[in-house]
Amino acid sequence: MSTKSPVVLPGATLGVLGSGQLGRMFTIAARRLGYRVHIFSPDTDTPAGQVGDLEFTAAYEDLDKVREFARGVDVVTFEFENVPSATSRTCAEIVPVRPDGEVLHVTQHRLREKTFLQTHGFPVTPFRAIRSEDDLRQAVRDLGLPAVLKTASFGYDGKGQRKIRSESEIPEAFAGLRGAEGIFEAYVDFEKEVSVVAARTLDGGFEAFPVFENRHENHILDLTFAPAAIPPELTRESIQLTHGILEALKVVGLLTVELFVTRSGQLLVNELAPRTHNSGHLTLDVATTCQFEQQVRAVCGLPLGSPRLKSPAAMANLLGDRWTSGTPDWASALRDPEVKLHLYGKAEARPGRKMGHLTAGGTTEEEASRRVLEARARLTSSRLPNPPSF
Ligand code: AMP
Repeated sequence: MSTKSPVVLPGATLGVLGSGQLGRMFTIAARRLGYRVHIFSPDTDTPAGQVGDLEFTAAYEDLDKVREFARGVDVVTFEFENVPSATSRTCAEIVPVRPDGEVLHVTQHRLREKTFLQTHGFPVTPFRAIRSEDDLRQAVRDLGLPAVLKTASFGYDGKGQRKIRSESEIPEAFAGLRGAEGIFEAYVDFEKEVSVVAARTLDGGFEAFPVFENRHENHILDLTFAPAAIPPELTRESIQLTHGILEALKVVGLLTVELFVTRSGQLLVNELAPRTHNSGHLTLDVATTCQFEQQVRAVCGLPLGSPRLKSPAAMANLLGDRWTSGTPDWASALRDPEVKLHLYGKAEARPGRKMGHLTAGGTTEEEASRRVLEARARLTSSRLPNPPSF
């Protein structure tokens, strides 16, 4: 256990495990508040490392390096939940890790996460653990088809998952797990997907951002707008449910709850992320306190800021695919002065890779969505996209 003070004041040094865009935007927020930031990951010239004070490059399994990193900082947080538990445990022997290793342990494994949610009474789609082809056949008999089979660990943006539509797909679907443990989930015929990003402090203080509504393309987030177009009672329920989850996990820091809204108006938790979230990026330009500053405040033991949005807002992701026919036309996108561009400093634009995003406010979420979608379309062509349907 660490003996360092629970409150980490500006001027201190924050440590981040992981070095992607979430770490980059956390680092920018932390530096604005006068903190120093050290980044730890196996890579160099990373999105977060480029803006941090120090970039530690070593394997997460290199516990000597992890100790050296932890000794140089006053608190550790992460921007990537697939950090091995030995890494966070090693840090925790030296400094506070927030959220703690237990939160990481639960949320980095889909079966543990769904089991945790179910045993604490939070609504999830029926699921089964899959360790053999027989387990999979039994799960199909119990829960029916269609269904989704996912690897229990290391899945994100739809990676490591497939939909099963008929029994004839069972052998191939099981082989696709390649020996890894799986989770079989009853298919949710959802009406929409929403998320709640919320923070909890050391003394149990809680703040949630307004509910975000998310549209995906090929399982990757494409567009978020806020507030979500759902009835007020579902908004209240989403936030209450999120509060309950942060309490049950005793999160100190941020946690995102991804939810399905079913056609009958029921909420089901799809996934938890113990950190800031892609759907929260619109807070950068329209919230009193953005999600990254809120993470800094929560992990440092400072009072939370207001998560209020100054107007409805939207965010459109920029994936590497936009670079296929050359550098996107940034000037055209920015012709709308209400549109803001965020790029993550990634040198190589691969298809599906998150390179940046656009945000905009508006008098309605529809107007804000139109702004970011039109700006994004101008990056690669003069053709305008179909307006989003609400
Ligand atoms: P995940 O990696 O679990 O967040 O899944 C990525 C996306 O796949 C989700 O945002 C959903 O669009 C879809 N998905 C995941 N699980 C299910 C499910 N049980 N039923 C229907 N769609 C799902």
